[in-house]
Amino acid sequence: MRIYIDLDDTIFDYQTAHHQGIRAGLTYPQAHYDFYRDLAPLPDAIESIERLASRFDVWFASRPSYLNPLSYTEKRVSIETHFGLAACERLILIPDKSLLIGDVLIDDGDRDGQPCFAGQWLQFGTASYPDWPSVADHIINGLE
Ligand SMILES: [Mg+2]
Repeated sequence: MRIYIDLDDTIFDYQTAHHQGIRAGLTYPQAHYDFYRDLAPLPDAIESIERLASRFDVWFASRPSYLNPLSYTEKRVSIETHFGLAACERLILIPDKSLLIGDVLIDDGDRDGQPCFAGQWLQFGTASYPDWPSVADHIINGLE
């Protein structure tokens, strides 16, 4: 089974860092050096993804900010920092996730106004999938 996992607000806490930047007076915090590199992982994200990666074909899939070329490099650096060098071979930077072919997409985004991923979309942060343990348990228990 092939699983794609979004980065911003699914693995990494984009929202908190963005709000901190706004409070500090930045108009576009996400356009600053090191913004994407320094995002903190959400609770249980690393451990849960490692659980999934030991059982399934797991890929990282993130929409880069084309206005911020740094985002391409920093997303790669943060995957290495938190998941190790080999995980970087599984990082896909993709503006349109409907192009992905696979079984599951774990993503905090909703479908409104976006092209749809053809497989199952687990919307991270919703009542059904509020946190990482609930996502990992759902996928693992659903199939074993
Ligand atoms: Mg996201």
